[in-house]
Order: sequence, then structure tokens, then C-alpha cells
Amino acid sequence: MAVTRTFSIIKPDATRRNLTGAVTKMLEEAGLRVVASKRIRMTREQAEGFYAVHKERPFFGELVEFMTSGPVVVQVLEGVDAVKRNRDVMGATNPADAAEGTIRKTHAESIEANTVHGSDSEENAKIEIEFFFGEDEIVG
Ligand code: ADP
Ligand code: MG
Repeated sequence: MAVTRTFSIIKPDATRRNLTGAVTKMLEEAGLRVVASKRIRMTREQAEGFYAVHKERPFFGELVEFMTSGPVVVQVLEGVDAVKRNRDVMGATNPADAAEGTIRKTHAESIEANTVHGSDSEENAKIEIEFFFGEDEIVG
């Protein structure tokens, strides 16, 4: 398995509860390395653009409101099979369905305020990394 990259967001519910370190520790313990990280307040335009694939979903407006409601930490993670490794440690979208020991089971508040985002494919990882980072900001 090759070393690859994925894109992660520590969402506003987590930064509000001061869980940036706790979440990052779980990512690191899952074998992922933070090779880029910055704390930002997402603009409405960024949130709408980032989640454009969900714009027909009934929760889109609320999701944009939530993602712009406080600071987030956007990160590039590197590791063996990084996309799958990250999805595994994140757990299911709905924390009620997430496995024990996952980030969402441990920390998520709800299906919306679910603590972390993670890319769902190699292709989307590349698009999402480029949405927030220049290559010069990523130091592996
Ligand atoms: P994931 O983040 O696990 O890849 P999705 O891509 O399906 O999940 O959804 C993107 C985000 O939209 C979720 O992480 C969550 O914050 C929010 N979301 C998903 N489903 C719902 C829902 N039914 N109600 C409210 N928010 C939702
Ligand atoms: Mg998704």
C-alpha cells in the first residue's frame, strides 16, 4: 500500500469544545501524519463551494450555517492508504452508528455536528486539498 494524502477538517463543534488536540491525537494514533494544518473561519462562499456536491440535500443550508459558525482546522494528512485509514478512524456519519473508538463515536454531538470531515476518495482528496492549500504549505 502506498503512502497517500487525504484532507481533514476539525469542525466547529470540536474547536468550540477545545478538542483540536484530542482529535489530532486520534488521527496520529491511527497512523496519520499532519503535513499541513491551519485554523480558519470558513466564509459562506468557501463552505458552499466545498459542499457543492450536497447542494440538493435538504440539510445543505444548515450544513453551511454550521460550518461557518466557528473556527475550523483544515488539515492534510499523510499515511499508508490515508483516505481509508482516516474514514476508518472517523467512524460513520451519524455518531449513533459509529463504531467504538472512532472519533465520531467518542466526540460527535449529532449527525450534523459530527466533529470531523474526511475525503471519501483519492480523487476528492486531491480536489479538497487544492481547495484550501497551496503545495508550498504542505510539508511532508
Ligand atoms: P461524511 O461527512 O461522513 O462523508 P456526508 O458526505 O454524507 O457524510 O455529509 C456531509 C456532512 O453533512 C456530514 O458530515 C454532516 O456534517 C452533514 N450531514 C450529513 N447527513 C446529514 C443529515 N441527515 N442531517 C444533517 N446534517 C447531515
Ligand atoms: Mg462526505
